This record gives sequence, C-alpha cells and structure tokens, in this order.
Amino acid sequence: MEIDAAALKSKGFFQQVQKDKFSLRLCTSGGTVATSFLKKVVDIADKYGGGQVHFTTRQQAEIPHIAAENVEAVQKLLSEAGVKTFIGGPRVRTVVACVGAAVCKFGQIDTLALAKEIHDRHFGRELPAKLKIALTGCKNNCAKVEANDIGVRGVNHSYQLYFGGCFGHETRIGRALLPVFAEKKEVLELIDRAVNFFADNAEKGERLGKLLDRVGFDEFKKTLVAKG
Ligand code: SF4
Repeated sequence: MEIDAAALKSKGFFQQVQKDKFSLRLCTSGGTVATSFLKKVVDIADKYGGGQVHFTTRQQAEIPHIAAENVEAVQKLLSEAGVKTFIGGPRVRTVVACVGAAVCKFGQIDTLALAKEIHDRHFGRELPAKLKIALTGCKNNCAKVEANDIGVRGVNHSYQLYFGGCFGHETRIGRALLPVFAEKKEVLELIDRAVNFFADNAEKGERLGKLLDRVGFDEFKKTLVAKG
C-alpha cells in the first residue's frame, strides 16, 4: 500500500521507525482532559494501537503502533468522538500548563482557564515559524515557561510574562516583561499583540527569540504596551 507520510503527518499521524506504523498525536492543550476523552483514547489504543498511550514532554497524548491500513478507521472514530489531533509545523502549538490555582495549593493564577482561552484564540494559527506557549502557576515553575516562545508565570496572584525562549536544537532563555499584570484580560491582549507582532515581522523559520534579537526587545515592548 502506498503511504503519503507528509499528508498523514498533517493530520496528526507521525510515521514511526517501522515505516508501516504511525503514532497518532492528539490535541491536549493545557494538559488536562476529561475522562470521556481518555476512554476514547484507550478504546483506540486497545483496538488499533499497541495497547499503549504515551505522554509527550509537551503534554500531548500519543497512541503509537497504528498500522497504515487502520488509519482511516481511526480517523472515523476520532471524528465521531469529536477528538482533535495535534497540529505541528509553523503554527501556534498546543498550550502547556501546570494545574495552577484550580488544583495546586501553591498556585497564584488559574493556568488551566487561561490555557483554554489562549488555545481558543490562537491554536493552529499559521505563522512564519512554530510558536510555543507555556503557563505555570507559581515560582516553582513546573511548566518551565522561560523555555517557551511565550511564557506566563503566576506571581502574587498576578501574571509575569516572558518572551523569546526555546529549548530544542537551540536553547535560549525567555526574557521577562516588567511589570507584572493584575488582570487576565490584559495578559490575553498582550499575547494577542505578541502573536500578531511575530506573524507580521518574523522571517520564515525564525523563532520569536531570534526575531527579538534582530529588532530589539525594547522595540517589541513598545508594540506590546501600545494601546490598540
Ligand atoms: S508551578 Fe506552582 S502552581 Fe504549578 S504545579 Fe508547580 S507548584 Fe503547583
């Protein structure tokens, strides 16, 4: 059977080292999912995968070992269950978040609610390069926000923002934007402006940190604080 691996990748099926097998990556922004979602994942993994589910370092649930001939049947099940797949490439990626104030006694902000709002506003948006966002509820920084293009950390029930980090074949630490912000609405607007700035100014393949080196962090800050 002929396999179009690139087309399948765009639908969340990543070709494995065993060329006739695919690992299906699911969209799990914020890292918290309903048990009904997990039941579907388990059903698919038992029926068509190897009875295993893997969780990636960016909180994505992944079902490995799906045979190429079963991809269509799995797609039908996903569609019936309303389960969305991961979207990779030069886009806004799924948002990573610790459990934050909704669960953790150290949490200073509701990371899960903010992750959902950011996801709903930006997930999958086409950009010159990938853009990763992470949210962490307190100074313990479980979600490692400075290793992301955009990071938000809870501080004294307010929001501290970071820009320009990445952690992969290149590593750079995101820079803090001061002061901290008290209102979630302000944070959402700042993130909107940052994503728009990235979309308008980055060159193909240029991550936010490199763009900020090129245009200057102060110039970027002016754009962020300018009232729209
Ligand atoms: S970063 Fe803070 S709020 Fe989030 S899980 Fe870790 S300790 Fe809890």
